Amino acid sequence: MRNDLLANRHIGINEKEEARMLRKIGVGSLEELIDKTIPANIRLKKPLALPEAMTEYEFGQHIAELAAKNKLYTTYIGMGWYNTITPAVIQRNVFENPVWYTSYTPYQTEVSQGRLEALMNFQTAVCDLTGMPLANCSLLDEATAAAEAVTMMYALRPRDMQKSGANVVFVDEGIFPQTLAVMTTRAIPQGIELRTGKYAEMELTPDIFACVLQYPNANGNVEDYGTFVEKAHAANCKVAVAADILSLALLTPPGEWGADIVFGTTQRLGTPMFYGGPSAAYFATRDEYKRNMPGRIIGWSKDKYGKTCYRMALQTREQHIKREKATSNICTAQALLATMAGFYAVYHGPEGIRNIAERIHSIATYLEKSINELGYRQANTQYFGTLRFELPDTISAQQIRTIALSKEVNLRYFKNGDVGMSIDETTDIAAVNVLISIFAIAAGKDYSKTNEIPETCTIPQSLQRRSTYLTHEVFNKYHTETEMMRYIKRLDRKDISLTHSMISLGSCTMKLNAAAEMLPLSRPEFMNMHPLVPEDQAEGYRELIHNLSEELKIITGFAGVSLQPNSGAAGEYTGLRVIRAYQESIGQGHRNKILIPASAHGTNPASAIQAGFITVTCACDEHGNVDMSDLRAKAEENKEYLAALMITYPSTHGIFETEIVEICHIIHACGAQVYMDGANMNAQVGLTNPGFIGADVCHLNLHKTFASPHGGGGPGVGPICVAEHLVPFLPGHELFGNTANEVAAAPFGSAGILPITYGYIRMMGTEGLTRATKIAILNANYLAAYFNETYGIVYRGANGFVGHEMILECRKVHEETGISENDIAKRLMDYGYHAPTLSFPVHGTLMIEPTESESLAELDNFITVMLTIWKEIQEVKEGKADKEDNVLVNAPHPEYEVVSDKWNHCYSREKAAYPTESVRENKFWINVARVDNTLGDRKLLPTCYGCFD
Ligand SMILES: *Cc1c(COP(=O)(O)O)cnc(C)c1O
Repeated sequence: MRNDLLANRHIGINEKEEARMLRKIGVGSLEELIDKTIPANIRLKKPLALPEAMTEYEFGQHIAELAAKNKLYTTYIGMGWYNTITPAVIQRNVFENPVWYTSYTPYQTEVSQGRLEALMNFQTAVCDLTGMPLANCSLLDEATAAAEAVTMMYALRPRDMQKSGANVVFVDEGIFPQTLAVMTTRAIPQGIELRTGKYAEMELTPDIFACVLQYPNANGNVEDYGTFVEKAHAANCKVAVAADILSLALLTPPGEWGADIVFGTTQRLGTPMFYGGPSAAYFATRDEYKRNMPGRIIGWSKDKYGKTCYRMALQTREQHIKREKATSNICTAQALLATMAGFYAVYHGPEGIRNIAERIHSIATYLEKSINELGYRQANTQYFGTLRFELPDTISAQQIRTIALSKEVNLRYFKNGDVGMSIDETTDIAAVNVLISIFAIAAGKDYSKTNEIPETCTIPQSLQRRSTYLTHEVFNKYHTETEMMRYIKRLDRKDISLTHSMISLGSCTMKLNAAAEMLPLSRPEFMNMHPLVPEDQAEGYRELIHNLSEELKIITGFAGVSLQPNSGAAGEYTGLRVIRAYQESIGQGHRNKILIPASAHGTNPASAIQAGFITVTCACDEHGNVDMSDLRAKAEENKEYLAALMITYPSTHGIFETEIVEICHIIHACGAQVYMDGANMNAQVGLTNPGFIGADVCHLNLHKTFASPHGGGGPGVGPICVAEHLVPFLPGHELFGNTANEVAAAPFGSAGILPITYGYIRMMGTEGLTRATKIAILNANYLAAYFNETYGIVYRGANGFVGHEMILECRKVHEETGISENDIAKRLMDYGYHAPTLSFPVHGTLMIEPTESESLAELDNFITVMLTIWKEIQEVKEGKADKEDNVLVNAPHPEYEVVSDKWNHCYSREKAAYPTESVRENKFWINVARVDNTLGDRKLLPTCYGCFD
């Protein structure tokens, strides 16, 4: 391998170190280790046929060339995506800051207070703007949020409606087409019928249980829904409203006219359009529906000394606990984008947001007047920032389009010939003059340039917002850049991310997100592209998407790819819908059961339910493998109705099961399909693959295996790769001319972050990727060699080796000493480490995945820390430390406790906070003690205004 390649920087272990590690493990060579770990019958015979690896410098040039092929026209298409200005202080200090983008979902509360506060700001901004009391901290996009709203309202049907089987959702026709398409995909398998029509003329028959409206509607018209909502409530129907969140700065928010759910995107609060995504969807509802709310909710709690702090609340609704009974399958959401939107609200504050909204509205008003004067008729009776013009008989939309394109302008062209435009934060006076000139030239008329936009408001009194918003001090304090920069820094100092130490979360693959992979995201040609521009303006994106899709096919051994799903769980759902569509096409639509091993990730059963299937659980044997006789029995028993098996490989126990090929045979013999959960793909790349093993479909988590950062809980990308027979059923989109199985608002999902994975694959190349897989396995086995004699490793493969991760036994420790896996997790914080995965997939254990990116020095430090903690456990066991007052049960030790004049423990401050030399050199000070896990659930306070007293 050339020595100037990314692989040498991405992979933490060099050949000398490798030899040392192999000796510790007790094998002669890396090849021998791999041969003894991965079953021979699934090993690829040839290296992956990927393009030759580029250096970082070469990739920089290549990506610049692709970016240059994107043409950035001034775009007014709207439809859910708007130009926005990301404040530079947020772009530089959050979006481009690895502390924010490499952190994990904030499960470990005490080392996540920074992002928890940022997400709390987001929830508060959403609650304030929508007029609702409760919001979550993001969903994947507006369209899936609509689908979640329908599912939630279906679950909340009153008893008599459940009895009568009311299953119709009325959807006003003024909804964005992508929202309708995704709702349709989601409704069908749940037996829900969508009925579209005009809300004003709609008769609410008893079979209707809910209504979905859009505000302003898809034309841009602001409807006064107040009376309709009263009517709907009188008919026992719930009402969900998709609302443009920026417009709510001026319009009466849906919460004030009775909406039960308000949802939408926060993209225009400072998140670039990114050719469709990522951006954070919001979802707000009434307090009484909190237990049915999808997604994560941040609430308040207190630490054990009574200090107020933040915590993720009500996790008992979520897939990782409730599995098939979860409110939704959401795991990865859009945390980083929600963080950014929250900061946008903090930076601008109420006046700033109102000014932005007023300016947009004033420009729209001015354009309406000017263009009307040229002989066009603006059709929206009241609007926020979107106009729709009817053309005079003498002018065609094609004429307008030609003139607009000549001025590098994209307008919105309606099917009936009308021409529309959505004004946004970036629209300036020069742009206004260009817009007017387009319509003037088409009409053959003169126009005069303006140099001033008068402040006007044409919104009728009845729809004007009177209530205040963003009144909390956080939105009124940080309006200078210095203050804002320091506020962001103050928060990021509270969080452990990959910038501090290894995050060894099993199943989550927290590897390096290389700067060279991240840099292209800041290119305006990638940031500021609307997803619905003509294809010839997005050639750079299209080429990147094409190349990446080809590479993912090679890596997975499959024939087709869809990049649309915005998370792994969304990929699972999509894959199952694709299986269903295929089976229907061959007259096998009755197959409605999914077999899932007991060890599966919670999203598997939750996705199966969402996709309209029934789950059948199959047992694991004492080695952690699928119990073959139970699998055979369950498959046989359900043969006629079996649609698919969902299986993770290597298993969630980190083991390459030797029977995987046989497992695929058994399932296929029943006429069913094999769905492979690709979360553990980091142990496969280059050595084996789902296509070769015999699966039919898999999803990938680009935010695990393929170097995209975790973002503190998103954005994710969960593409699915499928075998030939499933290709015709991959998700469509209006842009592709068919909307079947559409699962996300944007045609290519989160296109904006695809350059990361593309860069990873291009710079690593076949050799680099394959070596990364081997080193991931080497690192795991190196750790296992040390922990084996202390904690113990729960499961091993046929030859005694683990895959790329291992489960650390902590149950015996608990039995003998009362010290739990949670105590170990919290004690790790005192040493500057984020805990491994806690109690998944086996209760009472920790699952460790080091990845290939960690250096031997870091692995050794982690080993030292874990073995020091082991000694601390022994002290408790041997009675040298007090059972109730020891460093483990009291962990973590916050700074305020350690420096306090009062110190009431029977061990020293030094032992608590400075236990090893390396900690002294690199201390991560936290300032909350262990957080009370139940207080925040008993009293849910989901906004900054929260207060326990
Ligand atoms: C992470 C993970 C998922 C879910 O992926 P998200 O992107 O978080 O939705 C599914 N299965 C396994 C085994 C995982 O580790």
